[in-house]
Amino acid sequence: MSKVIAIFNQKGGVGKTTTNVNLSSCIAKLDRKVLVIDIDPQGNTTSGFGIDKKSLDKSIYDVLIEGENIKTTIIKTEDENLDLIASNVDLAGAEIELTNRDDRELILKNAIDEIRQDYDYIFIDCPPSLGLLTINSLVAVDSVIIPIQCEYYALEGVSQLMSTIKLIKKSLNPKLEVEGVVLSMFDGRTNLSIQVVDEVKKYFRGKVYTTLIPRNVRLAEAPSYGLSIVDYDPKSKGAEAYMELAEEFLDYIEDVI
Ligand code: ADP
Ligand code: MG
Repeated sequence: MSKVIAIFNQKGGVGKTTTNVNLSSCIAKLDRKVLVIDIDPQGNTTSGFGIDKKSLDKSIYDVLIEGENIKTTIIKTEDENLDLIASNVDLAGAEIELTNRDDRELILKNAIDEIRQDYDYIFIDCPPSLGLLTINSLVAVDSVIIPIQCEYYALEGVSQLMSTIKLIKKSLNPKLEVEGVVLSMFDGRTNLSIQVVDEVKKYFRGKVYTTLIPRNVRLAEAPSYGLSIVDYDPKSKGAEAYMELAEEFLDYIEDVI
C-alpha cells in the first residue's frame, strides 16, 4: 500500500519545503521507501537535498511537458530509502504550456500511477499558487498535509485553500482528504504562537498534529549545506521535532491501514 501526499498551502514561506524535505527524510530513516517530487519552479526541495538545480539532466518538467517516462527522471540520493524527482526554473513556463492540453490536470497523476507501487510514501512539494501545477498535484494525491505558520494571519487564505480542496474533491479527485495540519515556526515563549495553535485546532478539529515544529535556526541553515536536518544536526530541536512528526504521521496512517 503506497500513499501519495501533497504538502500544500498556496501561501509562501509557511514551511512547505522545510516540512517536505525533513519529514520525508525522517520517514526514510524510519525505513520506509520514499519518493519526493519537487513541483515548485523555485526548486528549493531539489537544492535542499543537495542537488544542483541548474545542471539537472532530467526533471519533472520533462515528465509534464515532454512526455518523458517518469522512471528515467528519478534521482537517487545519499539515503538509499529516498529518491527525488527534481525541479527548476524551467517549470515556470509549464503552467502556460499545459493550458491547451486536454489531459492538463491529469498528467502528473498518470505518471505517478506508473511508479506508486515502488514506494511506501510519495511526497509532492507544491508551489505557492493555485495554478495548474498545484491542481496536477491535488489530482494526483490521496491526501494533503497543510503547514501553517504560527504567525499573525495564520488562517488567512485557509478558507480559499479549503475551497480549492473541496472543488478538486468534487470534480477530479473524489478521494482527496486532509491528512493533517502541521504547525510550523512555533515559539512557545510568545502568546501569539499559543493563540495560533488554539485557533488552528478549532478550525481543523482533530486534524492538527500534536507535534509542533519550533522555530529553530538549524532548520533554516540545513538547506544551504544541501542536507536535511537529521543529517545536518540530528540533535537539534528541529531534528527532534521532525522525527517526532514522522513517528506521529506513521502511527496514524499505518494504524488505519
Ligand atoms: P515554503 O516552502 O512554504 O515557501 P519554506 O519551508 O521555504 O516555506 O520556509 C520559508 C523560510 O523559513 C525558509 O527560509 C526556511 O528556511 C525558514 N523556516 C521554515 N521553517 C522553519 C523553522 N521551523 N524554523 C526556522 N526557520 C524556518
Ligand atoms: Mg517552498
